Order: sequence, then structure tokens, then C-alpha cells
Amino acid sequence: MRIIIFGPPGAGKGTQAKMVAEHFGIVHLSTGKMFREAINEGTELGKLVKSIIDEGHLVPDQAVVDMVEETISNNNYSKGYILDGFPRTVDQAVAFDNLLERRGESLDMFISLHAPDEELIQRLLSRGEGRSDDTEEKIKTRLEVYKKDTAPVMEYYKHSGIYWAVDGTGSVDEIFQRILSALPVR
Ligand code: ADP
Repeated sequence: MRIIIFGPPGAGKGTQAKMVAEHFGIVHLSTGKMFREAINEGTELGKLVKSIIDEGHLVPDQAVVDMVEETISNNNYSKGYILDGFPRTVDQAVAFDNLLERRGESLDMFISLHAPDEELIQRLLSRGEGRSDDTEEKIKTRLEVYKKDTAPVMEYYKHSGIYWAVDGTGSVDEIFQRILSALPVR
């Protein structure tokens, strides 16, 4: 099973993706997490993306697409995966479609989590993970980038037949149940 979980910063993608991955025994692939690990390990990629991520901007498409392609090609995710934080631009979505096509694979579900801006900001400010991009100023930038560059990805998938909008407010469990009821297999 191949799933994309999509939504603005603070929508709860990471939390829900982890639960979905555990539930189905599939792999959780978070591009944000991969970048943070690269930064912590001091790799070339980490050095390239550190200041971009700290500022709340997007890593260039090619760098993200290459990283995702490498990860998917070098691992045997036989049961599938849930992508969290990718694709984040329409160009990334197109590149991902091409990758799937080359591999003879398809996507099963696109879950779009939504919540009001005030709630997103509150969640990000109070999540206390000590992330350098969780300051008030950087959160504002990330939400602007989301609206301008990332929200159009929803339009790209809306008519694909696998698009599902899920209310991201309420308890973590309530949201998880909503996601499960959207999926073709439970
Ligand atoms: P959040 O959803 O809270 O913004 P993520 O962990 O998904 O957190 O992403 C953190 C940062 O990593 C983003 O602000 C961006 O700089 C970078 N990033 C992650 N995924 C992508 C992507 N697909 N394209 C470009 N930049 C990305």
C-alpha cells in the first residue's frame, strides 16, 4: 500500500503517518525527518539544506526528488509506505508520478489533513521539540510557503479518484479513525 499524507505544517501529518504505518506494517517516510537527520549527521545534503530549513523555506525540488527516488529504489518496501511531507510542490508531484510509472506502481490514497490556521500555529508553538523552524516568525513563513507552493498539490490530486480530505481537529485517536475509514483496506 502506498499512501501520501498531506497538509499544512502542524496538521498532524507526522503523528498520524506513524500510526498508519504501524497499523499496516508499512514504512513511514518523512522527508523533513530525513533532512533533519542529514543535518545532524553533517552530510553534504545536510550542509546544503540546513539554512533553507532553518528559514522555513523549501528545499529545491531536485534535491528532494533525488532523495525520495534513492530511498525508494534502494530499499525493498514490499508492504508499501506512507509519505509525509512529500510531494510539497506540483513539480514534485509530477516527478513522483513519473517515478511510480517507471516502477510500474501506483498510489492507493492521498489523505489531505486540514485544520484552521490558529490551531496550526498553536500546535507548532507548543510542540516543544526544539526545532529551529518552530519559532513564531519561521512558522509564519512556513504557512505562507504552504499556501503559495504546497496547497496547489491538492488540486493536482483532487480529481485522481484517490483524494480524501480528513478533518484534522479533535483527538489524535479521532483523527486516526477518520483516516482509517477513508482507506480502502482497514
Ligand atoms: P512541517 O510539516 O511541520 O513543516 P516537515 O518535517 O515536513 O515539517 O518539514 C520541515 C522542513 O523540511 C520544511 O519546512 C522544508 O524546509 C523541508 N522539507 C521537507 N520536505 C520537503 C519537500 N518535500 N520539499 C521541500 N522541502 C521540504
